[in-house]
This record gives sequence, structure tokens and C-alpha cells, in this order.
Amino acid sequence: MDNNGNKTRIVKEIKVDTKKCVGCRACEIACSAFHAIPKFSSVNSARSRIMVTMDEVRDVFVPLRAGDYAQAECNGRNAYVIDGKEYDQCTFCPASCPSRDAFKEPDSGLPLKCDMCESQPPLEKPMCVDACTFGALIYEEKEVAIPVASVEASQEKRGEMKTGLESLIRKYGIKNVTETVARLGKKG
Ligand code: SF4
Ligand code: SF4
Repeated sequence: MDNNGNKTRIVKEIKVDTKKCVGCRACEIACSAFHAIPKFSSVNSARSRIMVTMDEVRDVFVPLRAGDYAQAECNGRNAYVIDGKEYDQCTFCPASCPSRDAFKEPDSGLPLKCDMCESQPPLEKPMCVDACTFGALIYEEKEVAIPVASVEASQEKRGEMKTGLESLIRKYGIKNVTETVARLGKKG
């Protein structure tokens, strides 16, 4: 809760200071090791959810974290001009997209997405930030208010679910409903 009584949530953020990035790729190594199965059993930058785009001639190094999966190639692009050089329109895009290989698990081809290193117990800071000894990645947590409309929408959804569950229990009995839910839970 904030001072005005609004519900809040923690938003995690990694700021990138491209001027400090030297392209060492320690962030990629740390991320891939953390997400290896079992954890830290292997290192493979192709499995990293952070990728450092490099232009060594111009001293441009831009670490990008994998964003959402895009089902189709987009038809609107961004153009970037840095120090007078125009970069390919997809160069700084964080999406895992069908039209390129970036952010895809090399064996399965499944999309990779940064999960901010969510784990139990939680890390003090994400692996890539911890590995970046040059200070190019800066981790911050912010408490932000949840818009009233989205709190109301989720309460409304919970209310609808409760009503639906009650009517199923009336129709089929609590034993049948709980057994079915347990069975479905095992499949997931
Ligand atoms: S570890 Fe830091 S300096 Fe090295 S490539 Fe990654 S962001 Fe850049
Ligand atoms: S926050 Fe974690 S998952 Fe995301 S890029 Fe960094 S190391 Fe990888």
C-alpha cells in the first residue's frame, strides 16, 4: 500500500548504460549458466536471455534482454542512427521473432524470454547485473501503484470464478469437482 491507500506492486528494472558496456559478454555467460538444467551445469551464450549487439569499429555495445515472443514478423520497424551509422532495423529489437534466430533455444527453437532470474530463494540481483563488473547494468526495484481499474477487473474475475465453481459443485458435487481439478493439476 502507498501513502494514499492504493495497492502497489514491485516493478524490477535493469537500466543499461551503453557507454560503460565493453562487450565482454560476461552477462550472456552468467545468464546461460543460471538457466541451464541443472543450474550452472553448462555455459552457452546461444541460450542466454541477454544478447550483446556489437559494432566494434564504432565502439557501440548494446546489451538487449529478451522480450516477448512475436508470432509474426512485424511490419513496423524502428531505424537507429548512432554516430552517423544507420543500423539494420531489427538490430536492437528484443523480440523472439519468426524472421530471425535471436533469442531462440538452439536445440528446440523455443523462444527465450528474460524472467529477471526469478528463483527460490530470490537472488539479491539478477545474474547478468551481478556479472557485469563494468557497471553497465544497473538493477532497481520500484514500488508502483496498481491502477484501480485493474484491481477491480481482477476482483471481478475472482468473483466470476467463485460463482462458476459454486454452480459446478451444486451440479456435480464437491468430490467430483476436486478430483477433476487435482487430475488437471497433475497434467499441467
Ligand atoms: S557484462 Fe556488462 S560490460 Fe560485459 S557485455 Fe555484458 S553489459 Fe557489457
Ligand atoms: S535478468 Fe536474468 S534472465 Fe534476464 S537477462 Fe539477466 S540474467 Fe538473463
